[in-house]
Amino acid sequence: MDATQAASPHSWRSLPAAQQPVWPDERALATVLDDLATAPPLVFAGECDQLRSRLAAVARGEAFLLQGGDCAETFDAVSADQVRDKLKTLLQMAAVLTYATSLPVVKVGRIAGQYSKPRSGSTEQRDGVELPVYRGDAVNGLDFTPQSRTPDPERLRRMYHASAATLNIVRAFTTGGYADLRQVHTWNQDFVASSPIGERYERLADEIDRALAFLRACGAQPGEFGSTEFYSSHEALILDYEAALTRRDSRTGDWYDVSGHMVWIGERTRQLDGAHVEFASRVRNPVAVKLGPSVTADEALALIDRLDPDREPGRLSFITRMGAGRIRDVLPGLVEKVTASGARIAWICDPMHGNTFTAPSGHKTRRFDDVLDEVRGFFEVHRELGTHPGGLHVELTGEDVTECVGGGAEVRLDDLAHRYESACDPRLNRYQSLDLAFQAAELYQE
Ligand code: PEP
Ligand code: MN
Repeated sequence: MDATQAASPHSWRSLPAAQQPVWPDERALATVLDDLATAPPLVFAGECDQLRSRLAAVARGEAFLLQGGDCAETFDAVSADQVRDKLKTLLQMAAVLTYATSLPVVKVGRIAGQYSKPRSGSTEQRDGVELPVYRGDAVNGLDFTPQSRTPDPERLRRMYHASAATLNIVRAFTTGGYADLRQVHTWNQDFVASSPIGERYERLADEIDRALAFLRACGAQPGEFGSTEFYSSHEALILDYEAALTRRDSRTGDWYDVSGHMVWIGERTRQLDGAHVEFASRVRNPVAVKLGPSVTADEALALIDRLDPDREPGRLSFITRMGAGRIRDVLPGLVEKVTASGARIAWICDPMHGNTFTAPSGHKTRRFDDVLDEVRGFFEVHRELGTHPGGLHVELTGEDVTECVGGGAEVRLDDLAHRYESACDPRLNRYQSLDLAFQAAELYQE
């Protein structure tokens, strides 16, 4: 690798890249990538810098992160209503968490780019038929037919346009009055009044109500009430796509992946000598790495050396996904060693991916109680160590789906088939998400 290549966002090309699609037509791929390389950025470098400074506050213990959205976005679901409902759920959760933590909540969607998925196998068998596995709408279709499952590079172009349309809706909703805190609080009051377990949360909702009434009485009308900062994020999985959307910032000469504000590296692609870590090391966006229960402290320290050599708070977040049964064993040693190294990392809890199991009906699901217990363990470990539990990373939707079991609205294993709509992993539905926010708020305050 020569020096110019090393300084460029293409240095990853000489390294093994896990989980990449095998495109049937390289020429068609090249045409799409050429077009994407000259397409307008989806986000701006200055916005990525701003998110990095918000995440620096998370790393310092002065802010809390709420990151959430679908496991896999789909092109069909790019509608104003669906995006609105997801945002509404996230904003409601954020309001509760802001009050409970007395900290600013940094809001980041798994949104506007979360179109590709790492998979455990490369093919899927059904009734003796074997086809390529679904890798997300960016690559192929969910329908189990040879045509749909054949990777099609034109889908990368659709991913770009779907992300642009989604971001446009997000920007309109978060700055156009819809995100007004007083409105968001009214929705939370409706939830408390109408949900079967809402009563439990009456006290918290009433306290928020009184705080808002107090501010109103004082004549305070802060501009922050009327709109909110909201950022996009996704797993940087398909490196051809991410590299095509990587641009040199005219202000500083640094490279930014302008496909989303924040990108993360998944548990399956975080190899130290692999292409994903190399790619992420070349861009200035805030980046995150998912860490599962098999991670060692040495691996975590090596990831810090690669991705945050300057020890810049906000640059790197670790999203741990240990499972409710493991978090209390695995997390303490990891946090201790990383903290002792002097690095300032934002610690985020993904309570979803370590708690997945297959129901008798064949549906992939998660128990709400396991999700909550991992959050509880996360808070316990950080309290014990005197470190900051920086935030939550959740798979959720604003719809009334039945994909995870339990929670206030009590979805049972038998109910899963009723409205199981996820293209990949099971998401918390609207009620389960709010339930989680209220319960996490109580746990944080303990
Ligand atoms: C995901 O976030 O959907 C995912 C695949 O997670 P992980 O990399 O943690 O398994
Ligand atoms: Mn997932």
